Amino acid sequence: MSKNEATPGVAQAEAEAHAATARSVEAGGFERRLSGLAIGPGVAVGPVFGTREAPAEITRARISAADIEAECARLDAAVTLSRKQIGKLRARLAVLPEDSQAELAPLLDAYVQMLGPSRLLRGARRRISEGLRSAEQAVTDEADGIATALVAASPDDPDAGGRRADEVREIARRLVRNLTRAPFRSFAGLPAGAVLVAEWLTPADAALIDPARVAAVATEEGGLDGHTAIMLRALGIPTVLGVMGLTAHMEPGRLAVVDGTAGVVVLEPSAATLAQARRAVTAFARRQQRWARLRRLPAVTRCGTEVALQANMELPAELPLVAQSGAHGVGLLRSEFLFMNREDLPDERAQTEIYTTIVEAMEGDPVTIRVLDWGGEKEIEALTAAGVGAAVGDANPALGLRGIRMLLRHPDLLTTQFAAILRSAGAGPVRVMLPMVTNMAEVREARAIYHRTAETLRAARVKLPDPLPPLGAMVEVPAAALTADGLATVADFFAIGSNDLTMYTLAADRGDTEAVDIYNPIHPAVLQLIAAIVAAGAHHGIDVSLCGEMAANARLTPLLLGLGLRSLSMNTTAVPRVKQAVRSARLADCQALTAAILRESEPDAVAAQLQAFHDRV
Ligand code: PEP
Ligand code: MG
Repeated sequence: MSKNEATPGVAQAEAEAHAATARSVEAGGFERRLSGLAIGPGVAVGPVFGTREAPAEITRARISAADIEAECARLDAAVTLSRKQIGKLRARLAVLPEDSQAELAPLLDAYVQMLGPSRLLRGARRRISEGLRSAEQAVTDEADGIATALVAASPDDPDAGGRRADEVREIARRLVRNLTRAPFRSFAGLPAGAVLVAEWLTPADAALIDPARVAAVATEEGGLDGHTAIMLRALGIPTVLGVMGLTAHMEPGRLAVVDGTAGVVVLEPSAATLAQARRAVTAFARRQQRWARLRRLPAVTRCGTEVALQANMELPAELPLVAQSGAHGVGLLRSEFLFMNREDLPDERAQTEIYTTIVEAMEGDPVTIRVLDWGGEKEIEALTAAGVGAAVGDANPALGLRGIRMLLRHPDLLTTQFAAILRSAGAGPVRVMLPMVTNMAEVREARAIYHRTAETLRAARVKLPDPLPPLGAMVEVPAAALTADGLATVADFFAIGSNDLTMYTLAADRGDTEAVDIYNPIHPAVLQLIAAIVAAGAHHGIDVSLCGEMAANARLTPLLLGLGLRSLSMNTTAVPRVKQAVRSARLADCQALTAAILRESEPDAVAAQLQAFHDRV
């Protein structure tokens, strides 16, 4: 059964979309095939739901005269951001076929013009200063006024008037989204089995998606290992990100095929494409069933070496997937996702409840809880509202206060989280992990807070394990990797965050479509750092695991085993494939492969070695 056939109401929505597509084909329409990044494996067919349709919420309250200047400054900031976004789209036009370029370029030019000294912006500023309207209301009202006038001014050519009115409304919507910083994201009204299409989704948006309702996701923005990609993979949704030209060409309600394995989106597919896609849906489901049979088999190489395969988790909703995957425990709980999409911060009690539920569900398998890794691309509105966000939002958020850096500036947050984790440790084995560690001092300081928190709890007669659960460090900043020998003397274990390690080593944003050619976890520089971290861990006798997206790529399993890793943590859907790779591996072959790869200096040469290895075995 295809993913979306399992959802009630889908058949009808699909039938309607099918009829609409058939009409368009009769009317001379043709399918449009767009390519992007293969993020979440699987194929799905469904009607397009464009998030740009959802209106942003705008408060109608008047501002005070004292706020005029600040309101105009907000508008200016939203204009700058919008210009930047459109500039990015413009720069990527070159990847499209010529006819698409010819279609889109004038549209983007019109947008850019409206973001200059235009009637829209002049009018919006006047509405702010004279009408005391909020910036979002001023923009919306002004755009509505202009759009109505444009239609009225073209009685002989209503299509042209309507088109120009749509352009004005579209740019106003973008401005409002950027003003509210709550881009689109009420997924209310999304029909079951729909293909969700958006220009971009934040990690918090992705966390709101219900995999039982959404057949597939496709967006224009996004990189290979950004947190949006990670969240969508975790939910097991067929996903293609970085699809240039997608929103301009989509027709809400019409059918689309998303092939998350190949990285292809087909809008308004032909009958032949549809039939092929449906066969692919069935084939994928069969493959999943075959993988599922591996669940109970051990992850042991052909020569008898055991490998620990654990799950990465973001939300408690993923618990059933962990159980189905055959993973033994949670190697990375990205706790920041528990803080997203809520108005207030979860207090100690709420956090304790969540962690305890997860620990209990693992039935004795360990759970590694990473304390808040907030910052960078991850937006947590409740933290911003609590004033913690004052220091973020800098020009380079990924290089600013992320992870442990932010927590040490807000020890109250860290204390609450440590306390909740320690309370949950009564329910089963727990490990505590610090993100974005750069210096040994950060670990020492965090450990002092950890012990103080434990003393306070013990004084309140809370029974805690003795010794306390291990306190380890993510190694994901090159500086930490290069000083791993020292870090291993203060951390109880290491978890290699290959996503950030790749990003910071190669200076290439993991979530940026533009940087995908450079962002490459098998770059020799990254591999050398991983080898150094593993060696430092072995030298000091501490456990080293790898929990970045590399761990989920079964093609890389021999390389990681050859590097000495015996513990990998990954999204649940990848566990069976990686287990299969472990069970097919011979350690001596893996070590020979890795030795050869570590002699290379170019990513292409590493890729060639890998290819040759897979061709041989
Ligand atoms: C990593 O950086 O590889 C990692 C596992 O952490 P995150 O993806 O949450 O940044
Ligand atoms: Mg990381």
